[in-house]
Amino acid sequence: MCPKCQGFAERVTVRSPHEYYDLVRQIEQVVSDGTLALVAGSCKLAEIRRGTPWPADYIEHTFRCVACEQKFQLAVKTYHGSGGDWSRATSSEYGRSGLKQNQTLTDFQACPCL
Ligand SMILES: [Zn+2]
Repeated sequence: MCPKCQGFAERVTVRSPHEYYDLVRQIEQVVSDGTLALVAGSCKLAEIRRGTPWPADYIEHTFRCVACEQKFQLAVKTYHGSGGDWSRATSSEYGRSGLKQNQTLTDFQACPCL
């Protein structure tokens, strides 16, 4: 962690497509500012857009702080009854596949924009 990325350390829970879209747009901005860099992702961030089908049932992106190499992960399940989160990745969490068991969320699919 460093002063550049400490503002992203807090876990953000994604409970709806609206929150996901908003978060992705914010992250795109941070990446274009050069604060975080995209390390890996299951699709392009630009493919996550309102009014288009989800690129996959499970979407995961990993970012790193360009200053201190701290990893961050955005992982969302887009199908029924799911959600996801933004989190700071520890070395043991990095590369984990799937969400933790207790993160199943119920209102992700209830959004009228889908
Ligand atoms: Zn940093």
